[in-house]
Amino acid sequence: MSVLRRDPTTNRWVIFGDPPPAARTPGDACPFCTGHESMTPPEIVAWGPPQRRPDAPGWQVRVVPNARPLLRIESALERHADLIYDTTSGTGAHEIVIETPEHQRSLAALPKAQVALVLKAWAERIRDLKKDPRFRSIFVFKNQGALAGAWMPDHSHSQVMGLPVTPKALQEILAVARAHYRDKERCVFCDILREELEYGQRLVQVTEHFVALAPYASRYPYEYWILPREHSADYETTEPALFDDLAGVLLASLGRLEDILPEPAYNLFLYSSPNRDARKGYWTTLAQDFHWHIAIMPRLVQTAGFEVGSGLYANPVLPEDAARMLRGGTPSGDDGAGAPSG
Ligand SMILES: [Zn+2]
Ligand SMILES: [Zn+2]
Repeated sequence: MSVLRRDPTTNRWVIFGDPPPAARTPGDACPFCTGHESMTPPEIVAWGPPQRRPDAPGWQVRVVPNARPLLRIESALERHADLIYDTTSGTGAHEIVIETPEHQRSLAALPKAQVALVLKAWAERIRDLKKDPRFRSIFVFKNQGALAGAWMPDHSHSQVMGLPVTPKALQEILAVARAHYRDKERCVFCDILREELEYGQRLVQVTEHFVALAPYASRYPYEYWILPREHSADYETTEPALFDDLAGVLLASLGRLEDILPEPAYNLFLYSSPNRDARKGYWTTLAQDFHWHIAIMPRLVQTAGFEVGSGLYANPVLPEDAARMLRGGTPSGDDGAGAPSG
């Protein structure tokens, strides 16, 4: 049974629980492959033909509980004071989204319709987990490659966590977005979109509904974000028809990332709204001030001591250069793009 403790000097929550599972040995049977459904806990939901029985082959995307979860869904939520400190029981959901029935390492190698289904699965899991008021936020992420912390690096999957707290990284973004809105009555992300669409040099891709861009102060080489062009705080309310467009942007950008960095390790984070029902009356301007986005952070090197100790990042690649490369340009020359389209 795990427990969360808050560091009162930083407000950062830390989960104390089981150690992570040992890395799989190549050659071990893969629990995520079709035909091996009995190797995972019973599925939560899967997409496939209607006549298919649960935990049987035939699925396209399958969501299962993590067999070694950081947090457990069956425990009652307890928050209490511990002298001057705050602690919370390790109550939460920890799910695996198996992105393909085939033994395929990379999301970027999947067909667009398959990626669109994965994106839809994230939305559905967020919608479902938000019904549980024990969860203050739902965090979707993907670790690709060993440097990014993947423990099952050879079968493409993502993870969804229902958390009893709002993690610090999301909290920081939410606080800045709220303050910006209080000051200016505008969404900071909508401001960024307006600016970047005009400037053009940091744009990676622009479609009818989405923009991929290298952020002005990127922390990681070739880091980029994908944002909906129309303001929305809640990823899970995305029109189902738009997932095709989003899948296209994600696939094209990841494909170019693989051209720049063969077999790139990266973390993908979906920053979406916290659960308003878990803190009634707290998120008063959330719908106006926050704008969901996906951040892709390539991991070229281990995080260095300087970054860990200072929170200050050193990035050798300017986002203008990263965006040009991610558009398919060369390190020195121009790619002829850079001007906004659409
Ligand atoms: Zn597999
Ligand atoms: Zn916005």
